[in-house]
Amino acid sequence: MPATQFGPLRGTGSGKFDDFAWLSYFTVLVREPVFMELRRAGFDLLGVPADIEFRRKQPEPLMELELWPSAHLHPSDCPKQCDICGRHLFPFRPGFGGLADSGKRPRPRLDAARFDATIPLQRIFEWPTILVASESFAGFIEKQGYTGFTLTPLELL
Ligand SMILES: [Zn+2]
Repeated sequence: MPATQFGPLRGTGSGKFDDFAWLSYFTVLVREPVFMELRRAGFDLLGVPADIEFRRKQPEPLMELELWPSAHLHPSDCPKQCDICGRHLFPFRPGFGGLADSGKRPRPRLDAARFDATIPLQRIFEWPTILVASESFAGFIEKQGYTGFTLTPLELL
């Protein structure tokens, strides 16, 4: 896959992190104590420690989540695929352009028939920069009062 990186995330960090820290608008890191709490609560999250060097003496371990593109857009919303590389061609640039320019959050409609609600957090196959939380996961992180995320309800068709 283009732009795929292998191995643990490496870099330097400083400052205070939210419970969910965003490296980009689609790559999320989770503070290790929160990651452990989520695992204990029964959410089957996979993650690897990010290899981040902190300037502070007290390092704050962060986990990089492994999120699979297992959710799918509803077929009626599915964009055309490129004949050559198979990439889905959106009429706008998700996230930064298009919908974001109009001040609206993108609200993809998901295919209910292919949605596995037992996966706490996943990506959309045709639009992998969007993260989808299951209802129970979204409810839990909200109830716990974790910081660093915004939830937008999505429709299952
Ligand atoms: Zn292409």
